[in-house]
Amino acid sequence: MTGRDSGFHPETDRLLLDVMLGKLTVYLRLCGYDAVYAGDRGVEADDRILDIAAEENRTLLTRDVSLAGQAESSILLTKRDIEDQLAELREAGVELAVAEVPTRCGRCNGSLVPVEDDETTPGYAPDPQETDCWRCQDCGQLFWKGSHWKRMKEVIG
Ligand SMILES: [Zn+2]
Repeated sequence: MTGRDSGFHPETDRLLLDVMLGKLTVYLRLCGYDAVYAGDRGVEADDRILDIAAEENRTLLTRDVSLAGQAESSILLTKRDIEDQLAELREAGVELAVAEVPTRCGRCNGSLVPVEDDETTPGYAPDPQETDCWRCQDCGQLFWKGSHWKRMKEVIG
């Protein structure tokens, strides 16, 4: 582990999550982190993962001891459970708080922009005049603080 005294913050730290950590990736995006999931990039080879971490200046989160040891900056996770993994990250100095204004798409890590009041939204989404909504600039997914958001917020605590 190469945790830094100053800790990790969404404004300053970019993350790369190893395969098997897809669920945790979504939680970190909810906290505003620029978090790339190796599985989304179709990357599994250790060398390639280390390349991306170095090229994009990302801290690697992994359950693989040897991989963690080879990365410039890494956090080794030992637990399987999402609550336990979040606790491990906190111990490593990772700031975890659900962003009041969502900034990252949980699905693709794209940037979110607010949906204007006079825009029409698809049937599955609430009316933006009544509920604040955000749209991903990359994949078009709409987000709002619904029951799914509240459940995840409770898990993060
Ligand atoms: Zn997206």
